[in-house]
Amino acid sequence: MIKDELFGRLNEQLSRLPVIDTHEHFLPRESRRDSESDVLSEYTTHYISSDLVSAGLSLDELAFIRDVRHPLDKRWRVVEPYWQACRFTGYARALDLSVKAIYQIDGIQRHTLIPLNEAFQKARQPGHYRYVIRDLCNIECCVCDSDNSALTNGRPLNDDHWARRVWQPVDYYWQCPPLADMNERSHKVNGQKLKDLDQLIGMLDADLAEVAEKGVHIIKITAAYMRSLHFPEVTYTKARQSMLEFLAGAGKTPEKPAVYPETVQNYMMHEILKRAHRAQLVVQVHTGLQEGNGNNLANSNPLLLTNLLLKYSDATFDLFHIGYPFIGETTALAKNFANVTLDMCWSHIIAPAAARRALDEFIDAVPFNKISAFGGDYLFVDGLYGHLRLAIENTASVLADKVRGGVMDEHQAYVLGRHLFYENPKRILRV
Ligand SMILES: [Zn+2]
Repeated sequence: MIKDELFGRLNEQLSRLPVIDTHEHFLPRESRRDSESDVLSEYTTHYISSDLVSAGLSLDELAFIRDVRHPLDKRWRVVEPYWQACRFTGYARALDLSVKAIYQIDGIQRHTLIPLNEAFQKARQPGHYRYVIRDLCNIECCVCDSDNSALTNGRPLNDDHWARRVWQPVDYYWQCPPLADMNERSHKVNGQKLKDLDQLIGMLDADLAEVAEKGVHIIKITAAYMRSLHFPEVTYTKARQSMLEFLAGAGKTPEKPAVYPETVQNYMMHEILKRAHRAQLVVQVHTGLQEGNGNNLANSNPLLLTNLLLKYSDATFDLFHIGYPFIGETTALAKNFANVTLDMCWSHIIAPAAARRALDEFIDAVPFNKISAFGGDYLFVDGLYGHLRLAIENTASVLADKVRGGVMDEHQAYVLGRHLFYENPKRILRV
């Protein structure tokens, strides 16, 4: 990355832009944060924990370093050699940047951890979200994927004005909640228990109506964590037969959730997307690398979505995470399909260099009105700042390169940056 004057000017200009954050996981209600936590426990909730395990930290050690009942310095001694090995990954860099800006402390190290934790604990009170999201990051709103059941449990939402919600229809295409609960709900919706596919579809429609009433028009598909993104078409007769067999089995343990057979999964995904197509919903799709350690990466290749992209042309498929490492595939899909957009959430910390490569290629191949530059994708709010810094730096670097190469002038680069961080996500996600 060349950090010359041109880069410096673009970096500075982009830093002053308002931002639409396309994807987060923290709870919209700040008051619900876990008050028993400390800085090491909260910061290892995800991401860096995966790098630490990849570096050699055992799962028992991970559980130990997350456990606030043990002294902080003892836990740090266990994790320190692995943390040092991760020091230059996007995950660790983002946290160090956050700590510097939020607490004015020089990163996460042996000698900073105790004062950092004191500052962290002091900041655990209402107002911290606003400070990070608004004051430090200038984020106008975050699209939050959290508290999923709050959208369908009949209660009104009581969000802060900065939060928008997405809904995950995972109960309908992957795992059936305990049958006892589903039967109760089916009685309310269908006037009878969950007997076959028809009641399940009735419940899906009821949930979608409730979600829509709460102003939610974005659904999120996380299937690549559990199975292939390829959902072939299945006939109603086949799916119904399979559902009947499933219910007979699930009925033996009605207090336990159970995974639907593949035939039902495939059928229901098409039912969900049929409705997304009709209602012109935005469908955010996890593609590429799965968070955590050890998963089937091939399941997440965005090319597997092709039959769905072709068929449900009035739904907008917002492909997540630059499809890392399937960047070329993701780019080509967005170039080819009018209903595919590119959402760089999570990507600037997965691998900052890959995010720069991807953005370079996106701008070369895809109309720029389809690219959203940033989504923090964090469970805890502090990570957001460091991630945004990396995203802005990456974008300034790629745009400066385009200016140096004569593709655009400096003013055009700035205008493009504004589209990537603000205008595009605002329009695409309708927030
Ligand atoms: Zn996410």
